[in-house]
Amino acid sequence: MEGIRVEPILEGRFALDGGAMFGIIPKPLWNRTNPADSSNRIDLSARCMLIRHPTAGNILVDAGIGTKWDDKGRAIYKIRHQEDDGTTLGIEGSLKAAGLTPDDIDHVILTHLHLDHAGGLTRWADERCEDVVPVFAGKPHYVMQEHWAWANSPSVRDRGSFIPRDFRFLEATPDAAPLHLLAGQTELFPGVTLIPRYGHTQAMSCVKVDAEDATYIYLADLIPTSGHLKIPYVMGYDLQPLITCREKQEILSEAARHNWRLFFEHDPTTAWCHIEPYKRGYRQAK
Ligand SMILES: [Zn+2]
Repeated sequence: MEGIRVEPILEGRFALDGGAMFGIIPKPLWNRTNPADSSNRIDLSARCMLIRHPTAGNILVDAGIGTKWDDKGRAIYKIRHQEDDGTTLGIEGSLKAAGLTPDDIDHVILTHLHLDHAGGLTRWADERCEDVVPVFAGKPHYVMQEHWAWANSPSVRDRGSFIPRDFRFLEATPDAAPLHLLAGQTELFPGVTLIPRYGHTQAMSCVKVDAEDATYIYLADLIPTSGHLKIPYVMGYDLQPLITCREKQEILSEAARHNWRLFFEHDPTTAWCHIEPYKRGYRQAK
C-alpha cells in the first residue's frame, strides 16, 4: 500500500539459553547458526518494528526488553543497551536514530506481554527504582484481549516470562496509557493486520504489513530467528509446540507463495529475509 514504510528499531540485545530456544533440537545442529557462549546462551536482539503510516501516523510494534533491570538481571540475560561502537540503544536511543522521540509514536501494538517485548513500555520514575512511568504516555496501546487475560493470570509454567510492572500500568492508569483489547484477526489500520497465534502463548499476534516495497510479516516469537525456519525448530518455552508447528507451516507457506518478507524480532543480525522452498520446508532465499 502506497505510503506505508517499515523500519527496524533495535531496542536492545540480550541472550537466552540455546537449549531453551531450540526445544528438542540437538545442540550440534542449532549451534551452527546460533553459536552458544560459555554459559550456553545465544545472542538475541529485541528488534521492534516501526510502521510509518500515511493515515495512522507512526506505529510501534513491541517495545523491547527495557531498562528496568538490576545488575543481577542484566547479567543473567546479558542485557545490553549499548553497541560495541558506542551507539546507544534503549527505546529512546533507537527511536532517536530514526529521527523520532517517544512523543512521535501515535500507536503501540503489543504482540504479547513477555518481558522482552513489553519491558520498554515503561521506565523507572526516579532513582529509587520503585515506580514506573509510561514511555508512550497518552498513546493507545493494543493487545489481544485473550492474551491480556492470560498475562494477568499466567500458568505456573510461564509465569516467569511476565513481569506485571511492565504492563499493569495500562489498566491502572487508563488516561495515561489507553488500553485497547482486540478479538481475533484484526485489520487495525489499512494494511496493518494482527493475526493471533496460540502455540507460543495464548493469542500472541503476528503483524502483517502491506508496505510500499513489500509485504512484511512481523513474527514475534513464532519464528524468533532465521535459525528457526525449520518447522520442528520450536522453542522450549512454547506452551503448545504442536500448534506452533502448524502455525509456522501456515505462515511460511503463505510467505513463500506471496514473497513476503519475514521480519525477525530476535535474530541478532538479520532483520528480515525472503524464503524459498527447500527439501520438505523452507530456507532463507539467497
Ligand atoms: Zn514470548
